[in-house]
Amino acid sequence: MTAPSPRPEILTIHPYVAGESELPGANRTVKLSSNEGAFGVPPSARAAIVAAAEGSYRYPDGGAGRLRDAIGKRWGLDPARIVCGAGSDDLLYQFCLSYGGPGRDIVMSEHGFSIYYIAGIYAGSRVIKVPERNLTTDLDAMLAAVSPATRLMFIANPNNPTGSMLPADDIARFRAALPPEVLLVLDSAYAEYVTHPAYDAGVKLVDATSNTVMTRTFSKIYGLGGMRIGWCYAPPAVVDVLNRVRGPFNVSVAAQAAAIAALAEPGWVETGCAHNAEYRPKLAAGIAATGLKVWPSEGNFVLVDLGTVEAADAADAFLRSNGIIVRKVAGYGLPHCLRVTVGTAEEVGLAVDGFTEFMRQSPDRTSRG
Ligand SMILES: *Cc1c(COP(=O)(O)O)cnc(C)c1O
Repeated sequence: MTAPSPRPEILTIHPYVAGESELPGANRTVKLSSNEGAFGVPPSARAAIVAAAEGSYRYPDGGAGRLRDAIGKRWGLDPARIVCGAGSDDLLYQFCLSYGGPGRDIVMSEHGFSIYYIAGIYAGSRVIKVPERNLTTDLDAMLAAVSPATRLMFIANPNNPTGSMLPADDIARFRAALPPEVLLVLDSAYAEYVTHPAYDAGVKLVDATSNTVMTRTFSKIYGLGGMRIGWCYAPPAVVDVLNRVRGPFNVSVAAQAAAIAALAEPGWVETGCAHNAEYRPKLAAGIAATGLKVWPSEGNFVLVDLGTVEAADAADAFLRSNGIIVRKVAGYGLPHCLRVTVGTAEEVGLAVDGFTEFMRQSPDRTSRG
């Protein structure tokens, strides 16, 4: 008997590994594995989710009109050039399925966000991973990887899991050198956390070109990862494509209400950003004080280099035994590293204590300095 089978390349995809949230047996779990904001759900978003229950027997507004208006107002953008998705992942899939496909290559960097690869292979594309330099996207190498078959390119800025950031001017020069038929997707999931003056989330480049898109999310600083809401700002032709192919009701009633409320929550982003600006350096310095290398990051997380795969696995196991979940990043080609989210002040302290105690107990297992 023959069984139904997908296209062969589908079975080469490894399922996305999400950050875990529970440790069986631990009385308290400190979850620093998914880069969620440190402060939970904005209070007004929580109220909006409860209030949305009433109308949930009706389909949502498929065009997310009120939400696009609110986003447009917040960032000074034309709502007609915004498309919302069930998380930005939803939109990343739609880009791959509509601009990728058999014979259409997708280019990403070696340690780029794993959804680009999964969605690209799913679409039937060849996905080319370009080596990085110092765990930073190498724009010259990305350019050199472009062929006549290239149609789509993804750059997360800052990148997850490395935390590295590219200056806006470099990306603009890079865009100018790219063939016009290559759609450049700037994934700015961590934009709200970036304080570096050379950074731009992508709005300027989207406005200046007809082939650049910026994606954003409510999953990180806005504290709504569980609601699944993301959006993109795109040229009219790309908006038109997305509105043809996306799920017609891809953002739920509760998610739209929550996002609108979160945007209006006074001081939410400012507080989250200020906290991160204070505690990311504390987290990094605390871990670096144990002798471990911590990579510079512009996001709400840091990448810790344990030196060897064995040391990374041992540190992960040790932290877990103390109720702390960080993120293994072997799937990103970094099996000797662990990614740690910037949590609350207390959680940052616990993470630093965890690494400190690990290094005190097993200093020989890791290559220091
Ligand atoms: C977290 C993250 C996203 C956001 O995904 P959502 O689907 O919006 O939750 C997108 N890109 C990168 C690089 C991320 O780290």
